[in-house]
Amino acid sequence: MAVSRKDYAAHSRRVTKSPRWKALRMQALDRDGWQCVQCGERRRLEVDHILPVRDRPDLSFSLSNLQCLCGRCHSRKTRIEIGLGQPNPARQAWRQLVRMGRN
Ligand SMILES: [Zn+2]
Repeated sequence: MAVSRKDYAAHSRRVTKSPRWKALRMQALDRDGWQCVQCGERRRLEVDHILPVRDRPDLSFSLSNLQCLCGRCHSRKTRIEIGLGQPNPARQAWRQLVRMGRN
């Protein structure tokens, strides 16, 4: 189910604005060696909730639910979570048809 980006961000903001988050974030960065766990990038690091806060608020402050991602990997993951990342197959098929009709 798709949610709006704004609604999604509001959920995690409640966590990332809290004083507890600062310390936890450092712990996560230390554990992952200050690099993106997906591509190894060392700049623009963000700490991501593996299971989104919206789905598992109980895991918001659990270190095992955190991972370090660079900005690029993080936004890719977020897009998929809010339903924008994976183009839906029906729409893909339609696009194909339209393209074929044009030729
Ligand atoms: Zn990355």
